[in-house]
Amino acid sequence: MNKSVRKAVIAGNWKMNKTRPEAKELISSLVPLVKDAGCEVVICVPFTNLETAVALTEGTNIKVGAQNCHFEKSGAFTGEVSADMLMELGVEYVVLGHSERRQYFGETDETVNKRTRAALSAGLKPIVCVGELLWERECGITEEVIARQIKLDFFGISKDELLSCIIAYEPVWAIGTGKTATAEQAEEVCAFIRATLAKLYDSETAEAVTVQYGGSMNAANAAELLSKPDVDGGLIGGASLKANDFSVIVGAATNG
Ligand code: PEP
Repeated sequence: MNKSVRKAVIAGNWKMNKTRPEAKELISSLVPLVKDAGCEVVICVPFTNLETAVALTEGTNIKVGAQNCHFEKSGAFTGEVSADMLMELGVEYVVLGHSERRQYFGETDETVNKRTRAALSAGLKPIVCVGELLWERECGITEEVIARQIKLDFFGISKDELLSCIIAYEPVWAIGTGKTATAEQAEEVCAFIRATLAKLYDSETAEAVTVQYGGSMNAANAAELLSKPDVDGGLIGGASLKANDFSVIVGAATNG
C-alpha cells in the first residue's frame, strides 16, 4: 500500500499553554491559514480551552483534541476527566501516553492501555505516543523499547479499533529539546512500528495506520521529515503555538 492512501495528520500539542483569550487569538489566526490543507489538522488544547476550540473551529477543517483522559467513566478521581466528558464537548481526538505524562505523572504502559481502551469505547480517536529515552537509544535497544510499548499499549485492542488510532513516534530525547531525529531515524522507527503492527495484526491493517513523528518538528525541518514513506504526519509541540509556523508544517504535509 502506498503512503498516499493513509491519512496524513498534523496535530498540535499545546501542552499547558494559552489562556482562553490567547487560545481564541491563535485559533482565529490559524483557521484561514490552514483552510485548504490536504491533511487532517488537529489542535490538542488544554481542558480549559476545549469548549472554546470546539466552538471556534465549527464549520472549519480543524479538529479538536484533548491531551489526556481517564480510564474510568466517572467516580472519585479528583482532577481527572473522562472520555465521555470529552465526547460530550465535541472533542474528536485525545493524546495518550505522552512522554511528559509518563515522566512527570507516573503514566505506565498499563494505564496507557486502559486509557486507550476507554477512549475508543467512548468514540474518541486516540493519538498514542511511544518513544525511547536517549539512554535506551545509546544502548541499542530502541526497537525493543518501541515493540514493548506497542504490544502493551495496544493489548486487547481489535483491528477495527486500531484503525481509529494514530501512533506518534516521539523519541523522548527530541521532545522540547530542539534536537530533532534525522529524517532517516524517524523513518526507521516509524517503519519498525508498522512492521510490529503487521506481526500483531496483519500487513494490510498495519499499512492503513497513520504513524506520526514528533519531537522538535518545526517549519524548517518538517518537509524533510514528512517526505519519508512511513512518516504520515506530525505531533507538534512548541511550533504549534505559532499560527504561521504550524501552518507551514501543515503545508509540508499537504505537499509531502
Ligand atoms: C510534543 O509535545 O509532543 C512535542 C513533540 O513537542 P516539541 O515539538 O516541542 O518537541
